[in-house]
Amino acid sequence: MSTPRRGIWIILKKKQDGRNDDNVKLTCLGCWGAYPAGGSANSSFLLEEEQFYLLVDCGSGVLSQLGKVIPIESLSALILSHYHHDHVADIGCLQYAMLIQNQLGKRDKPLPIYAHGEGENLFHTLSYKHYTEARRIFAEQAIQIGPWKVEFCPTRHTAYCLAVKFTGNNHTLVYTADTGWSDELIDFAKGADTMICESSLYKDQKDLVQGHMTAAEAGELAEKAGVKQLILTHFPHYGNQQELQEQAEEVFSGSVELAKEQKIWIFGNTLL
Ligand SMILES: [Zn+2]
Repeated sequence: MSTPRRGIWIILKKKQDGRNDDNVKLTCLGCWGAYPAGGSANSSFLLEEEQFYLLVDCGSGVLSQLGKVIPIESLSALILSHYHHDHVADIGCLQYAMLIQNQLGKRDKPLPIYAHGEGENLFHTLSYKHYTEARRIFAEQAIQIGPWKVEFCPTRHTAYCLAVKFTGNNHTLVYTADTGWSDELIDFAKGADTMICESSLYKDQKDLVQGHMTAAEAGELAEKAGVKQLILTHFPHYGNQQELQEQAEEVFSGSVELAKEQKIWIFGNTLL
């Protein structure tokens, strides 16, 4: 009796601390659009599977939040949706971090930074000596990053921006990045398990700001795409965030949650 009991305990323990390699661990590092509220960060997420750590966007405050989650030298790769400041502001400091960790002997390879090269952009600045390495992505070209198949879809935004779909062992996750309403995103996100969707505006602000969506539109997008779970992010600095959740819930039949720094989700758990 003792052997199977111990075996079960080990599996459950792995699940509780999120270190089961079959799981995807998603950590929110920040939830704000434009600039971070005090002590927080711009909208950003860390994806972890098979001990591969992929940072998704790197705006202001993200590096500070990342250091609370993993040793900075453990970061495996960064992917950028677009070049607005609230998605790239911390890259210079990230490059210095890689330099210092290299000098300390804790890291010996460049950090890959995946990003598009369309329009006015900072692509040429993403490579820094041999500490970070720019890798160009294209909307029509799926790539493999660590354990994930990664696909892209151009969004409706004021700068060229790519939504990203991550398909891992047990879970498909779509990150809309910044976008106005887009029928293309419905097809792109079809059947995904989780959608992380921008929610920059309240319902009564529809079409007030070009290139961003209301919480109700985020809910409608999730409903039409048939995803199971919606995580709202990229919040405005006014009003009551709880209303954003309620406005999405009015139109989406699945689960809606608000992003918040250091909030963790674990997906792909087949035994619970
Ligand atoms: Zn933007």
